[in-house]
Amino acid sequence: MQDYSALRDAIRDVVDFPKEGIIFKDIMPMLAQPELLKLSVQAFCETAAGQKIDKVVGIDARGFIFGSAVAMELGAGFVPIRKKGKLPWMTNAISYSLEYGEATVEIHQDSIKPGERVLIVDDLLATGGTAAAAVSLVQSLDADLVGISFLIELEFLNGRQLLPTKNIHSIIQY
Ligand code: 5GP
Repeated sequence: MQDYSALRDAIRDVVDFPKEGIIFKDIMPMLAQPELLKLSVQAFCETAAGQKIDKVVGIDARGFIFGSAVAMELGAGFVPIRKKGKLPWMTNAISYSLEYGEATVEIHQDSIKPGERVLIVDDLLATGGTAAAAVSLVQSLDADLVGISFLIELEFLNGRQLLPTKNIHSIIQY
């Protein structure tokens, strides 16, 4: 397995963001380095090795950064899941509670055809609420969920338990 310690080393802990008591994993220093950006996209593609993917679904907002690059590498299309009120066409929506607060996310109804093979990507798995909502939206379109991939997994929060698939990959774990 490839050594991703350079990615880990470039992720910064920000104390008390976005509110007191939270230690936020800031991936911006990693993204700003060309070789690390490339390595992170390659690492995401590795999590889908050998699988045909029709659509990569990226979760608002940092999932977009990786999602479109990974989609291009895999020869797939890109589909955004966005926070409520941002998508212009007809949507399916779901509300959920997250690590700090509540949210509603949406997907365009015509973005994935029934049976299309989907990879969901996001920067970080914490409690799993966001990813579970993304899974529900993808399933509401009768897609075939191939896997869910994260750059970072906060293992102590057990987010995997909320996700109805065993095909969950993370590149860096804390
Ligand atoms: P969850 O729903 O699993 O509790 O939270 C995951 C979502 O919140 C992801 O979309 C992720 O972008 C965001 N998130 C929560 N904590 C962090 C963090 O420490 N760093 C980053 N980069 N994103 C976070």
